[in-house]
Amino acid sequence: MAYLFDPPPQPALPVFGTDLLFPVRRIWCVGRNYADHAREMGHDPDREPPFFFAKPADAIVASGSTIPFPMATEDLHHEIELVVAIGLGGVAIEPGSALEHVFGYAVGLDMTRRDRQAEAKRLARPWEMGKGFDRSAPMSAIAPASRIGHPERGPIVLAVNGEIRQAGDLARQIWSVAETISHLSRLVELAPGDLIMTGTPAGVGPVRPGDRLEGRIATVGELSVTYAAG
Ligand code: MN
Repeated sequence: MAYLFDPPPQPALPVFGTDLLFPVRRIWCVGRNYADHAREMGHDPDREPPFFFAKPADAIVASGSTIPFPMATEDLHHEIELVVAIGLGGVAIEPGSALEHVFGYAVGLDMTRRDRQAEAKRLARPWEMGKGFDRSAPMSAIAPASRIGHPERGPIVLAVNGEIRQAGDLARQIWSVAETISHLSRLVELAPGDLIMTGTPAGVGPVRPGDRLEGRIATVGELSVTYAAG
């Protein structure tokens, strides 16, 4: 049997320091994983276990891109996040062995149509149209854990047009990377190619046409994208 039309391109991210591509399978995202961001969104950070939502794999956008401003929003927000790239799959992974499942880390943006998300929350509807829209996941190259280890602390920073908007520290995550992998793998099977966006620190805010976003995380790397001018 032949395909009716050409299969869509395989979404992939470059692996830093190599000429290899990391093929992306699924993108899972953690909600409210820094206490200061949970508070700015009106939630008590101390009493809620991690919860997850998804973006389509083809939402990734390479660092350096100019991105068309998304449709259907008047309130596009940036969320800078540490991205975990899964290299070894599994289910019901124990926290003590979870980091063995990590291939590497990237700098990502969980771009959010905040007005669509707020509407979904108000009407108790799914979040996809707030979170899983086209080109909603700009990402850097993946830095292999074999090069940088497993970052547990250090700055996570986002600037818009050169002005710092988000400045947090990985050490302030409510759920560690290992704990996040353990929780998620009790809800869905993880497989090589899965990405986990691990939540954003405080300071989320609006992005406008023409804005340039520059993110960096500790030893992981840097990311920059520009939204096309109106
Ligand atoms: Mn997020």
